[in-house]
Amino acid sequence: MIDDSLIQKGLRTKLIERLRERGIKNEKVLEAMSKVPRHLFMDKSFISHAYEDKPFSISAGQTISQPYTVAFQTELLQIERFDKILEIGTGSGYQAAVLAELGAIVYTVERQRELFISAQRTLKRLSYSAKCFWSDGYEGKDAFAPFKKILITAGAPEVPEKLKLQLAIGGRLVAPIGKDNQQTMTLVCRISETEFETSAHGNFMFVPMLNGLVT
Ligand code: SAH
Repeated sequence: MIDDSLIQKGLRTKLIERLRERGIKNEKVLEAMSKVPRHLFMDKSFISHAYEDKPFSISAGQTISQPYTVAFQTELLQIERFDKILEIGTGSGYQAAVLAELGAIVYTVERQRELFISAQRTLKRLSYSAKCFWSDGYEGKDAFAPFKKILITAGAPEVPEKLKLQLAIGGRLVAPIGKDNQQTMTLVCRISETEFETSAHGNFMFVPMLNGLVT
């Protein structure tokens, strides 16, 4: 049984209005987020807060990103139907579900085994087709490259070189770049085999992108 009541749907509609007020304009992104039941990606004890515009703890000391941040990153990616996208940092699986709802072909990697397992389970239960992997995002997923879009949902000290090389020409990579608790939302567009164009899009706060796997 999928527990998505009228109450949850009503709260979601309010959240979408709030995202619109905060400047999210892409109607396809807003529509996708109005469909994904965020409360089912969270710990039961936080369910009553699921539609506040805030990040929340999931397990393994990680967080589900704030809805505004999810909307902002997704908007910046300019997702088109059938875009092949690689997400680094599956976490709860919520962002992957939003991407799948937009019609993207989603590959998502998570370094923490516990999160990989629970996100994969949640996505499957809600019938979102996203290919989940327990692997280190710094390596990307060369076997499935090139990707039209790449999204990093953890703060990286710099744009990982391997990921840039797995981006299709004409593709877009969105990542929060910076150390400690503050990152600059960075967009990298691949212009040609060797040329990349980078632009900055404001400050955000993410958990860090770390090396290696956690069992
Ligand atoms: N996109 C998630 C939020 C992610 S929080 C959601 O929608 O819920 C960031 C996640 O990135 C955490 O789960 C963290 O474990 C993961 N992470 C950090 N470094 C990583 C790496 N090198 N490879 C893969 N995942 C990583």
